[in-house]
Amino acid sequence: MAEVTLNNVSKAYGKTQAVADISMTIEDGAFVVLLGPTGAGKTTTLRLISGLEKLDSGSIHIGGRDVGDDTPAQRDVAMVFQQYSLYPHLTVRDNLAFPLRSPILKTPEDVIAQKVQTIAETLQIPHKLDNKATELSGGEMQRVSIGRALVRDPQIYLMDEPLSSLDAKLRADLRVELKRIHADLGATLLYVTHDQVEAMTMATHIGVLENGRLVQYGTPREVYEDPASIYVASRLGSPRINILPAALFPGNHKGDQIGLRPENIQQGDGIEATIIRSEHLGDQTRLHLDLQGHAITTLTDPHQDYADNTTIKISPRDPLYFDATGGRVA
Ligand code: ADP
Repeated sequence: MAEVTLNNVSKAYGKTQAVADISMTIEDGAFVVLLGPTGAGKTTTLRLISGLEKLDSGSIHIGGRDVGDDTPAQRDVAMVFQQYSLYPHLTVRDNLAFPLRSPILKTPEDVIAQKVQTIAETLQIPHKLDNKATELSGGEMQRVSIGRALVRDPQIYLMDEPLSSLDAKLRADLRVELKRIHADLGATLLYVTHDQVEAMTMATHIGVLENGRLVQYGTPREVYEDPASIYVASRLGSPRINILPAALFPGNHKGDQIGLRPENIQQGDGIEATIIRSEHLGDQTRLHLDLQGHAITTLTDPHQDYADNTTIKISPRDPLYFDATGGRVA
């Protein structure tokens, strides 16, 4: 597969700057997840790479070649969308074989048969090969859609929220499978989602988008532990990071605002907070606290009971500091 680079890529629709000056390198073999809320520019970035949209400015290279004037077919990318687009009247086998029978690829039938079998096994649907597409569950249909991309050997796989229409259990299963497929195939993947769990669990690198801009690019650990701004810090972690005026806590502070992950609020010493509510989730307990009028959430011992309206003492551990505009103070 191939390395893909974006250099100062921009795209506007009328007055909306969908993608603004993005530069990034998707290394050969990487699993890059673009993360951001609706409207951040994720899908537009994917469509620009695939050639479904034209750049306003900047350039895109796939495998070292400027693809600005190439059609989608010439770019040799494989896309998977949120809405599976299978041919309902065809069997799973023929749906999977379809891309390989295209006039461009013109693959010999014996090679097709072998590839389809391999991919069906990878996706754990070999027993469904002779079913019509309409005879599948939603999860199986999405597996076939992903399979239709995987039978090809493109420069890069582009996936746009492929799991978001599935139920929670299937999503969890397919997350693990996609990660395994990535490792097995050594594939290069660019994957768009607003789901932080998908980003954290699958990505080798996460790109965080804000209003069309790439505001941070790094490994999941880097982005979680060393966020560039409150915006980035709030994208990862559940419950969310607590953002508070630093002056609530004694001592000298490097910035006006302090960011405390729920797991980084220590109990014992410190300042008083009131328990508003506790949630027992089995493996953890979440405490919702009031700290001088600020609502915060912390994680605590799952084996202890906490009564509402009682007071505990808390102190920060490994705080992150931010300036008044939300930028990180290192
Ligand atoms: P995301 O995938 O992160 O939800 P998009 O890339 O779809 O974001 O959209 C980015 C911005 O561009 C949004 O404000 C969206 O409304 C706008 N946009 C996307 N596609 C079009 C289009 N074809 N015409 C007009 N505006 C568009």
